[in-house]
Formats: sequence, structure tokens, C-alpha cells
Amino acid sequence: MQSNRVWLTVPHARCPGGSPPQHLCDFAAPSGAQQLASELGGRALVFIGDVSRDQCDLNRRRCRLTTRFRQSLTNRLRREGPPSVLLDIHSFPDREGAYGPYEIVLLLDAGHGPSAQLSRRLRTAIERDVPGANVAEMEGATNDIQVEMHEYDVPAVLIELNEGMNGERVRQYMGAIARQV
Ligand SMILES: [Zn+2]
Repeated sequence: MQSNRVWLTVPHARCPGGSPPQHLCDFAAPSGAQQLASELGGRALVFIGDVSRDQCDLNRRRCRLTTRFRQSLTNRLRREGPPSVLLDIHSFPDREGAYGPYEIVLLLDAGHGPSAQLSRRLRTAIERDVPGANVAEMEGATNDIQVEMHEYDVPAVLIELNEGMNGERVRQYMGAIARQV
């Protein structure tokens, strides 16, 4: 019953109000996750962050017990059991920082074998299926959504999308990923 269930999380979906504009939210992550969910058909469940990062960074341990977003993830784990795979979806500004040169970056936790294997599988599929693929695989910082999934031995990879991509380019990447999970 639960085979091939894919959970997609978008912890930084909610932008803080006011200015100046800062990259405290992931502008392209909600649409990217929806695109991936549509490529996955009925197999995906999407969790959208409901507080902005300046209130609580939903990737951090301290938000696990105190936010509705993290509680809903934990409650579903307990009620329905774990998914097959979790993909934590983020985005970054084009040409900025370490991710800047790439269109998509996969962040894994090398200490968790199944997650490292999933990341490798996704990268291989992307390089095979997306023309001119520009993908990198990196070791991520501690991400408590991945940590919680690893407690259930669920492979979990964080995906960073370049905000400079157009919708068709995002669709190509999401299609390649959807065929592998
Ligand atoms: Zn983010």
C-alpha cells in the first residue's frame, strides 16, 4: 500500500513581510515542488512551510516540536508509517554563493548510506535525461528534516533549484527525478 510514496517538503516557502528583500524564503521552491508532485502523479504528498525563516527555520531541530509544519510531518510518520523517499525542496538566487554556477544541487548526508545512494541515483538520472544538465552533489549542513527521516531509515535528499531557471527547464529536471523515486 505504501510503496513509492514520496513526501516533498518546502520548509522555506513562507516569505517574511516587509522590506528590504532578503533571501529568507525560497522563491522558486513551492512551484518546483508542485511541478515535481505533478510529475509524480498520485504518489506525492507535499508539505508547505507555514512560518517564515525569521520565526523558525523549519530545517532546525528546535522547530520540530513547536511548529505545525513539523508536527504534521511527525504525526503522519506515526499514523501512516514512513514514505519510501523524502525530498526537501529549496531554491537559491542565480550565480550566488557555492551553488550559483549550477542549475540544481543535491545535498546529501553522507553518514546515511541510503540517502547517499538516492542522491547518486538522482544525479545519474539527471545527467542521462536532461540535455546539458548542470548538476552538483554536495554534503549538506545538518538538516533536521533529513535527520528525522533517517530515524525511520527513509532516504532523504535536499534539492536546491536555481531561481534563474524557466518553468520548462525546471520541468525537465523534475521529470528526471520523478522517474527515479
Ligand atoms: Zn531553503
